Amino acid sequence: MQPLSIHRLNRSVINEPLGTVGDLLKFLQRHPRLFVITGAGISRASGIPTYRDEIGSWQGSTPIQHKDFIRDSDVRRRYWARSFHGWPNVGNASPNQAHRALVKIEQAGHVSTLVTQNIDRLHQKAGHRKVVDLHGRLDQVLCMDCGAISEREEIQQWLWQHNPQVDVRDWQHDLFAPDGDAEVDMDLVDQFRIPSCRRCDGMLKPNVVFYGSSVSKEVVSYLMEKMTRADAVLVVGTSLMVYSSFRFCKLASELAMPIACINRGLTRADAMLRLKVDADCGPTLSALASLLGSD
Ligand SMILES: [Zn+2]
Repeated sequence: MQPLSIHRLNRSVINEPLGTVGDLLKFLQRHPRLFVITGAGISRASGIPTYRDEIGSWQGSTPIQHKDFIRDSDVRRRYWARSFHGWPNVGNASPNQAHRALVKIEQAGHVSTLVTQNIDRLHQKAGHRKVVDLHGRLDQVLCMDCGAISEREEIQQWLWQHNPQVDVRDWQHDLFAPDGDAEVDMDLVDQFRIPSCRRCDGMLKPNVVFYGSSVSKEVVSYLMEKMTRADAVLVVGTSLMVYSSFRFCKLASELAMPIACINRGLTRADAMLRLKVDADCGPTLSALASLLGSD
């Protein structure tokens, strides 16, 4: 299976048909049951920054690789130190108008499946009941030895209790990534105490799919099957740079299923799109939800 990795775009080969909210409404009327894929762009207005700029280039620090996290205790120490600071920004974030509008679109019967690359649980906080968290969820921690799941908030309390040397006021408050990573002084990292499983003393990992790891085959087959039952695919707020989500557009394209997209800037699937709305997700989805409500 293809591990989570980053694809780079070549701006010169991409031509997409640009559309409006009105075109989206027509798309939805023609294809009423959507397989929806969302990404970091939908959470930006909730104060969670995106990983990439509008041409898909990497922003901020390099993400942690799965094998480095498993093999190297220094990498784990760095992760937990940075996550200790970054987690509250994700844990306390609230859904924005884009999440809420998507709930209305779901209530109107137009979302057959919602799959998100985001690990922030904002779709669930907005009221979506059935969401597939493709890359896992940051509000949980997984024991790599016994499989026990614990709440990230519990681990946060442990980190507070066992790292009294840390004064978070010294840390840079505006530099953190969607996975709760934050910029932290290396001296703090070296002294940082990290948690282990309460049950078996095993290695703890956030319950997310790191780069270099893969989404489980069962989840992929489940989603592929769901997708073939939808009328069309709607991509929201993602440039689809990781294969784990791009694969759904690839399959849709092979099956001649129409794909629409709301995203600022280029996406890896631009050449496959029937419709592209190059705009912010919040106002666009809100306008779409209002148009549906006034039908
Ligand atoms: Zn354990």
